[in-house]
Amino acid sequence: MCPSSAVASETLDTSLSSIEAADDSTFLPLRGSTSSSSDMSVTADQQGDWSERKWIVNESALMELFTTCHTCSVAIDEKTTVSNGSMIKVEWTCLNQHKGVWRSCPEIRGMPENNLVSSAAIIFPGTTQTEIQEWADLINLQLPKKTSYYSLQSTYLIPVVHQAYTDMQESILSELQDTACAGGHTDIGGDARSDSPGYSAKYTTYSFMDDSTKKIIMSDLIQVSEASSSPAMEAVGFRRGLDRLLDSGVSVDVVTTDRHPSIRKIMRESYPNLRHEFDPWHVAKGELEVFHSSMLKYAEKRRHYSYVTMQARIQLSVLDHNHNVGRQHDSTELGKDKYNVFHSRQSNQWVVRKLYEPTKQDFRKDLVQQVILRRLDKNVTLGDKVFQIHPSVNLPANIAPTPKPNKDNLVAQHTSRFRK
Ligand SMILES: [Zn+2]
Repeated sequence: MCPSSAVASETLDTSLSSIEAADDSTFLPLRGSTSSSSDMSVTADQQGDWSERKWIVNESALMELFTTCHTCSVAIDEKTTVSNGSMIKVEWTCLNQHKGVWRSCPEIRGMPENNLVSSAAIIFPGTTQTEIQEWADLINLQLPKKTSYYSLQSTYLIPVVHQAYTDMQESILSELQDTACAGGHTDIGGDARSDSPGYSAKYTTYSFMDDSTKKIIMSDLIQVSEASSSPAMEAVGFRRGLDRLLDSGVSVDVVTTDRHPSIRKIMRESYPNLRHEFDPWHVAKGELEVFHSSMLKYAEKRRHYSYVTMQARIQLSVLDHNHNVGRQHDSTELGKDKYNVFHSRQSNQWVVRKLYEPTKQDFRKDLVQQVILRRLDKNVTLGDKVFQIHPSVNLPANIAPTPKPNKDNLVAQHTSRFRK
């Protein structure tokens, strides 16, 4: 991909978003008034796509719409409501035997579209099912239950994230191959991030950033069982990522990392042709640290995730980073840079910080679109492990140091300890 086409697509994006902004303010009142006469008889095939506006509707208010027949206006005689996760379906019969079915959202091959969309909207922005469920429970908003959510996550959500990440990585690698073909080199920075410090870490993520574009080229998730110890995960991740880069034909020149002794040894012994730098103020290294801290939004350290879920959350944070890299400083309408004033606890002083343009999250909408398409694919079966993502490395079923004991025995021990 050449620089000129990237500029062209950026220009296109700006014009599209400004059209959407205008659409919001000018067309919405019109849309409301033109559709009000036909609102009563909206059926599934007249509904919009998954991204249309949705409302929190009280059940009693909804049922007011089903007191008289939508065809002849006489009283509705029989009415049954069925719910499936987030969708409510009302079936009715009037005194004149007209029958009708109304659904709160379309179904995609028998599955309520909003079950898929509301589930996608949990993991794609990096939140968790538990948090959203607590929010929904408090207002009694109907969502797919926990087991349904995890089933959708395995069959539809994670595979879509995995594909988007793989596509993005392939496109970055092919650009870097082109650079190598043209006789150019790529300088990279590498950094590790663990889920907990030192010897107790279960996962380490090793990421490589392209020095010139500040894009994350790859982020590998290493599980402790793949290394001899928690601290050794960093070296495993470093080697795996760097080998993949070199095997892909990327011409790496400078590698910047921290002064981790095992990385220095690997560089010296296995990659003597590459230049190794440790400058702690190196831009890519600093940006990598920023990236790793922003990863917390997708994978909070205090939460436990399975390998595959953790990997998907890291992939989401890479997609987010690469879609928002190169944001400009935010400015006012008069073109002045925007600043934020905050109190620094470290220096105990008021300091100013330049604000960046808001992040763009269009990639999440693209992912939801892919989820819909995946559901439309008749070959993909919900719950079938063939269609789920599996760890790329062999993981033992249980990485706890001793096998999980019998729960009843453990409970008995626990209660006897408190009886003493
Ligand atoms: Zn009727």
